[in-house]
Amino acid sequence: MSRQPSIWTTVTSHLRSASPTGPVMYFAPAVLQATARRFIDGFDGLVTYAVKANDTQVVLENLVASGLSAFDVASPVEMRELRSVSPDVALHYNNPVRTPEEIAVAVEMGVVSYSVDSMREFEKLRAQVPTEGVEISVRLCLPVEGAAYHFGAKFGADPEGAVALLKAVKAAGYITSMTFHPGTQCATPEVWVHYIEVCADVANAADVSLARLNVGGGFASNRGVAPDLEAIFDAIRNAKISCFGEDTPKLVCEPGRAMVAEAFTLATRVKAIREDGTVFLNDGIYGGLAEAHQIGIVERVRSLRADTTPMACEGTPRVIYGPTCDSIDRLPDPLALPEGLAEGDYVLFDGMGAYSIAMGTRFNGYGKADLVTVQQLTA
Ligand SMILES: *Cc1c(COP(=O)(O)O)cnc(C)c1O
Repeated sequence: MSRQPSIWTTVTSHLRSASPTGPVMYFAPAVLQATARRFIDGFDGLVTYAVKANDTQVVLENLVASGLSAFDVASPVEMRELRSVSPDVALHYNNPVRTPEEIAVAVEMGVVSYSVDSMREFEKLRAQVPTEGVEISVRLCLPVEGAAYHFGAKFGADPEGAVALLKAVKAAGYITSMTFHPGTQCATPEVWVHYIEVCADVANAADVSLARLNVGGGFASNRGVAPDLEAIFDAIRNAKISCFGEDTPKLVCEPGRAMVAEAFTLATRVKAIREDGTVFLNDGIYGGLAEAHQIGIVERVRSLRADTTPMACEGTPRVIYGPTCDSIDRLPDPLALPEGLAEGDYVLFDGMGAYSIAMGTRFNGYGKADLVTVQQLTA
């Protein structure tokens, strides 16, 4: 019996040899490591990773191996996942709403940084968290547009509330910092610049100097247009220098999507095609395409014949359903797939590492993709 390689050269080499009937998530560690290096080299501060975007163990391991030394975690489960990969990376607990039991776990796990957006939640922290070496970042929220979808809008104090919180954090003896999240898939630098300006105003009004300024995640992934991350890094650095002058906080970022998206390709297979051209895939919104209804998944799709020959991409737009029996298991917009598409052909979605595996369910017995490691995702 021939042994299957644990790392395949390409997506097509695996598809050809394995003909998988279920969906497959292809992971390229080399792509993830290159993205981590791009952030570390380009961003003028500490690069952390928001674990919620994709908490697969190999992702966390590869990021630690790439030199990331701090991670944004939102729950005790995420803290434990990180601790099982590395005993000494710094944990930043930036979910600003917590139970006393969750705070107790955080203290036990040695969390070094917390965010806070309300006085009541701050009082809960103060009751349990020692001040020594612990940072509390006040999270600001502004009514600004620019992101594909503002999933962080449920958190953050307004500027007035942030001033009061900063004063309270300082008075309690914690290291004072600020943070914000511009909303996910944010492709323009203006949102960051505006937030940085208001953070400087808030710190000024509170008469508190900031140890660090955490500019969140929100960095865009490639959805048909490759994002100019370096332009955003530059805008962030320049805004910090011009707003804070001498009394300049150290920068922190916590990308989720932009760090991990590019490292995964989802391969689905055509289960059936109706007479009217409607396509049923073997994965859908309860699986790897979980985010489709929030931000659409239309731009980077490739089709391959069952023997993996590439197919020309033009075609008429069709309704695409996933495999479950729920009618909302459907891509929000019709998708142009090749005219000659047939049962058994593959439809590949590139740039699928973020909010896919992490959000998939097992609804109706579908949704779980196999994870296959490859040297490269294209070709
Ligand atoms: C989700 C989240 C992130 C990551 O956001 P992306 O848009 O995926 O980069 C970063 N920080 C916090 C606090 C978050 O909740």
